[in-house]
This record gives sequence, structure tokens and C-alpha cells, in this order.
Amino acid sequence: MRGEGVTEHIPGLFRGELQHGGGNNVTVIDLSWRQKGACQGLDPAVFFPDEGDEAQVEIAIAVCDTCHVRVSCLEHALASREKEGVWGGTTERERRRIVRQRRRSA
Ligand code: SF4
Repeated sequence: MRGEGVTEHIPGLFRGELQHGGGNNVTVIDLSWRQKGACQGLDPAVFFPDEGDEAQVEIAIAVCDTCHVRVSCLEHALASREKEGVWGGTTERERRRIVRQRRRSA
């Protein structure tokens, strides 16, 4: 299993997260959507497959396909530059492509 952020992937683990914006600025990010994820209660390892394990990736994406907070999850992964794992039904490679497309169209 790859990744150090596995425990952070568990929906519902955090209701909110503090993010330092520089200086004395602190922003509270609403992560309550995590509690509603279809992956709630599943082994986080499912979403962090070993490199090249396409079968495991497909399993994770199949779970995401049933998830009602998929968009929030994907946007979180894009905003926080999640480099590993399946988030919002996307792989890291797919998220990089989305970021590139958004930059081009901005
Ligand atoms: S989109 Fe996938 S990874 Fe994100 S919360 Fe839903 S099931 Fe979990």
C-alpha cells in the first residue's frame, strides 16, 4: 500500500480542518462531506492501490461511482493536490489532467 495520507482519506474522520493561509490567517475548511462518502467504513487501503494494480483501482472507482459526495471529494483532492489514491472517482493521473484542462480554460 502506498501513501502516508491513508488515514486522512477516511470520510468522517475530521469534521473540519484548519488551514494556515499565511501570517495570522487561519481558515476552517468544511470537510463534513466526508461523513457521507460511500467509502465510509471501508478499508482505506482500497483507495490507495499499489502502483499498477488496475483491478484495485477499478474497485475503488466503482465505489466512488455510487457516492453522493463525489464532486466535493474530487474538488477537495484537486484543491489540496492529493498526489496519491483514488479521490472522487479519479486517479492521480486523471486529476493532473483536470488541473491542466482548467488552467488552459482559465
Ligand atoms: S468519492 Fe470515493 S473516495 Fe470520495 S468520499 Fe466518495 S467514495 Fe470516498
